[in-house]
Amino acid sequence: MDCIFCKIAAGEIPSQKVYEDDLIYAFRDINPQAPVHILVIPKEHIASSASEIDADNSHIIGRVFEAIAKIAKQEGLESGFRVINNCGEDGGQTVGHIHFHLLGGTKLRPQML
Ligand code: AMP
Ligand code: ZN
Repeated sequence: MDCIFCKIAAGEIPSQKVYEDDLIYAFRDINPQAPVHILVIPKEHIASSASEIDADNSHIIGRVFEAIAKIAKQEGLESGFRVINNCGEDGGQTVGHIHFHLLGGTKLRPQML
C-alpha cells in the first residue's frame, strides 16, 4: 500500500523515532505545532481514520494511549499535554493512516480543541 506512515513505521522513510513497541510507532512531526509534537501510530494500517475503529481493532487504540502515557513521561510532560485526532476531510486529516498528535512542552491555547 502506498501509505507514507506505513513506510515510516517500516523504516522505509526516515523519521525521528521517539518510541516503538510491537504494535506502536511514534515519531516527531515534521511541521511541529508545539515544542513537543509527536505522532503516535499503529504500525499496521489497521484503520485509515478514527471512523474505522471497531471491535476488532479498538484494542490497538488502547495500546496507542498506553504508549502516549509512556512517551509523555519520557518527554517530561508531567504538567500536561494534549492529544488530537483529525478525522476525515472536515476534521482536517491529511494522512490516511490513523494517527494521534501528542502536543506539549508549553501551555497550550485553551481554544485549540
Ligand atoms: P493530519 O493533518 O492530522 O493528517 O496530520 C498529519 C501530520 O503528519 C501533519 O502534522 C504533518 O506535519 C505530518 N507529517 C507528514 N509527513 C510527515 C513525515 N514524513 N514525517 C513526520 N511528520 C509528517
Ligand atoms: Zn498506512
